[in-house]
Amino acid sequence: MTPSKPSILLELRAVSHEYGNGGSEHERVLQDINLNVAEHDVVALLGPSGCGKSTLVRIMAGLISPSRGELYYRGERQTGVSPGVAMVFQNFALFPWLTVRENILLPIGSLPEAEQKARLDTLLATVGLGAYEHSFPRELSGGMKQRVGIARALIASPEILCMDEPFSALDVLTAETLRNEIGRLLADPNHPLRTMVIVTHNIEEAVFFATRVVVLAAHPGRVEVVVPVDLPYPRDSDSPAFKAIVAGLHATLTRTTMPDTADTTKVVTQKLDGARRRIAPVSLPAVNPGEVLGLLSLVGEDEWDVFQLAERFGKEFTAVVRVVKAAELLGLLETPGQDVRITPLGREILAGSTDRQRDIIREQLKCLKIFELLIRLIGVQPDKQLREEDLLTELQALLPHEKPRPQFRTLLNWGRYAELISYHQRKRLISLYTRRSGRTPASPAPKEQG
Ligand code: ADP
Repeated sequence: MTPSKPSILLELRAVSHEYGNGGSEHERVLQDINLNVAEHDVVALLGPSGCGKSTLVRIMAGLISPSRGELYYRGERQTGVSPGVAMVFQNFALFPWLTVRENILLPIGSLPEAEQKARLDTLLATVGLGAYEHSFPRELSGGMKQRVGIARALIASPEILCMDEPFSALDVLTAETLRNEIGRLLADPNHPLRTMVIVTHNIEEAVFFATRVVVLAAHPGRVEVVVPVDLPYPRDSDSPAFKAIVAGLHATLTRTTMPDTADTTKVVTQKLDGARRRIAPVSLPAVNPGEVLGLLSLVGEDEWDVFQLAERFGKEFTAVVRVVKAAELLGLLETPGQDVRITPLGREILAGSTDRQRDIIREQLKCLKIFELLIRLIGVQPDKQLREEDLLTELQALLPHEKPRPQFRTLLNWGRYAELISYHQRKRLISLYTRRSGRTPASPAPKEQG
């Protein structure tokens, strides 16, 4: 007998989403997402922080209505909470005033009591909560709380279990245990849970669970590539096949989060008026000079895989990529493929005094389009003072996919460190940095004026 084709449970058609008031371009979080979840699919949504994974999974669960596009469940257009979908949240989302038992039973309060009890008893055993039925959430460890979160999601026998970074608030060992337990449920032909959507930024976790890994790119969030994972459950993360898929995804994610930035340091020579439309300045990643200098000294003379570097730096991968990107924009690191190595200028910075480091960064910042425009903008103001609100408006126009306020803070941070600009906090004015008489170029950056 040939197995019948698994039916499509959930379908997203041309879904886009913006938070806030009216869908202006710069607030777009998701763009034109088309995605199906069929029976027995395990879909992992993988991508850098802020690319819209949580938003997407909430749209799938019907907890957020998308600004545009449609959600179908078993072919029926949905506008509210999706039937057959249950959600597990990163921070458990338990009611503190209810016991474990009451929290778990919430979704099936309308069923007959005997049915509630039967389901509860089975589930408490499945998720290892038997002894905690009458405890309150505050009496439980993080791992136990998440067991309650999972039990509450499973009690209504959902067809799709959606999980938003379910293990990332837990310590490594607890996360590993819970991951294995969910893996066992998926592998158990007698357990009804066969279909899942999991949000993660952890590549191994995605490959451990998924039949398909959907890699998202950011600004706006969109599907970059879908990678099928055809490995039997339970999966062995030490097997060569597993490692090969992880390596492939590493490379994909690196390309997605660390695209080629080679032309971003070219100086723009057009006049400001036309320049805004003709060039696309690249924003400076939201990191500070100290983080870049710290990363440089860690990289040293070695060549690193960006994932090893993240491990060594002790930070989340996408956070490290931001620092790497900033260092690359400034010409201090280069990133052939997924490797990271220092440039001659990076070496010079490492060997230099604090003043030399500042001088080098100042010269490099001046070469960035975004700083070049900022300096010119200040220069064309009648009194050579740029109002903060005008800069925010400019940033919104120049970088439509960025939030202007964080970008403003990053520019200010770097510009002041490098003694390029000054900021008058009370008057909210930005001007070019001028050295006070008697100060040598080597003296430290001034404290905020005003
Ligand atoms: P991810 O899960 O990939 O980190 P999110 O879906 O949480 O991404 O967020 C995507 C973008 O949407 C981010 O820029 C985030 O700041 C923004 N965002 C998320 N939730 C809200 C909200 N409730 N209101 C406004 N912006 C939001």
